[in-house]
Amino acid sequence: MPGGDSLSPDLPAAGGMPDNIQSGFTRRIPDPAIGADIPSEFFKLNRLIPVSRDSTGHVVVVAADPLDTIPLDMLAAYLGVPIVVSFASDNEIRRMILDRTAALRKSATQILQDSGRYDQPGDAAGRQPKELIWSGADESAVVRLVNTVITEAVDCRASDIHFEPERNGVRIRYRIDGLLQDALHSPDRLKEYLVSRIKVMAGMDISRRHQPQDGSLSVTVKGNPMDIRISAVPTPFGERLVLRLLGRHGLSVDLAGLGMTRETIQSVDAILAQTSGMLIVAGPTGSGKTTTLYACLNRLDAATRNIITIEDPVEYQVPGVSQVQVGGKQSMGFADGLRSMLRQDPDIMMVGEIRDTETASIALRSALTGHLILTTIHTGSPDGAVMRLLDLGADRALICETISGIIEQRLIRLSCPECSARRSESPAGCPECRYTGFKGRTGLFRLVRFDEDVKDAVRRENMKALKTILDRQSRSTLRIQAEMLAETGQTTSAEVLRVLGDRPETRERE
Ligand SMILES: [Zn+2]
Repeated sequence: MPGGDSLSPDLPAAGGMPDNIQSGFTRRIPDPAIGADIPSEFFKLNRLIPVSRDSTGHVVVVAADPLDTIPLDMLAAYLGVPIVVSFASDNEIRRMILDRTAALRKSATQILQDSGRYDQPGDAAGRQPKELIWSGADESAVVRLVNTVITEAVDCRASDIHFEPERNGVRIRYRIDGLLQDALHSPDRLKEYLVSRIKVMAGMDISRRHQPQDGSLSVTVKGNPMDIRISAVPTPFGERLVLRLLGRHGLSVDLAGLGMTRETIQSVDAILAQTSGMLIVAGPTGSGKTTTLYACLNRLDAATRNIITIEDPVEYQVPGVSQVQVGGKQSMGFADGLRSMLRQDPDIMMVGEIRDTETASIALRSALTGHLILTTIHTGSPDGAVMRLLDLGADRALICETISGIIEQRLIRLSCPECSARRSESPAGCPECRYTGFKGRTGLFRLVRFDEDVKDAVRRENMKALKTILDRQSRSTLRIQAEMLAETGQTTSAEVLRVLGDRPETRERE
């Protein structure tokens, strides 16, 4: 065995431990440079982790079972140096593997520190011109920094990357599970280069700094192609960039996977089986409305029905469906898109969002004349969606005729499975969840059907009655579903409050 000389499996003499096994190990953060290219799975599977190099150059490895020599020999052979083994519990090793993952993620910070070294010759020389300091090495540092930031954002399931110029540098934040988290702070001297690099990558005009600009970019991250939409907006400290990583919100594009109950899915299926009418998903920004529509499209038979979408932007490709992008650089809006798509003989149309009078009117009329329309309305509740349509000048009779159902939706963060079990010891989370205590999200859904009582209230434009009827129709409110998740430890009470606010409906539960 190649590593045999390093581990001497024949050593357990006199019933003792092999002499390369030490006791009394105290936990420390593993040096990520040792075996940096070995996947964590190897360490998890074999319950061991290399930690440091000792003064003689041997690598110190901590193992839960130091007598299981095969993986230790493999590791020694791979590293090409003798190893010294210490013992630690499974729990300790699991935590050290997480610490190693976190330490590897700090590589972006490292690039910034490396680039900082190029400051010193300039500082030492006193009057050396700034441009000279910038030649060569630092530019490549910027390229590496941008690449690392994008890769790191993908690794930690971010949906957006924000580059926010400040007086003294650029603050870089990731949106993960719907919330922004600080990632890095880049020094001021990198500011312009960082912005220029991204704009060049996205084919944007780098000389235009004082007007808003949009761009897009296709990259491959760890073998996976990905589209990024970029928006640049001028601020007093420089251009602010937001990179949206399309399709990277970490949500399942499947109704059950999104957390919808079987009962609700059956009702949704009944609506999707119709040949006309309208299904609306209502919720605030970032509540996953569009993902729910995609999940609905995935349930339809694209082979026998002509399905067309009009979106801003196209976030996710649905097999067999024609998807049209509006907004952005295109001058076509939702209403124009809808009008031209109606000439394409559609059976089913998904309209990304109804937010203007014209789109509302065309969509409702199409839903009346043999098209099934799926859409979203930016509002907090089902009655709010009806109110919004009325505000947009939609006809009450048309609303009653066409709307089949309204789904009310929110997204709630789930407790991190890695650290929620040992929350009592370390309430601050773990590297897996970036010390937030949350990892992943699930949906809260309520579907209301447009039955005769509902239509009657809309016809009479009695909004108070409408709300009462809708609330009476569904027993399981979003809050009841969320509180159940909190009771079973899948989320926290604080998260329920964050998503649903204070409880206005207390009296309803009596
Ligand atoms: Zn965690």
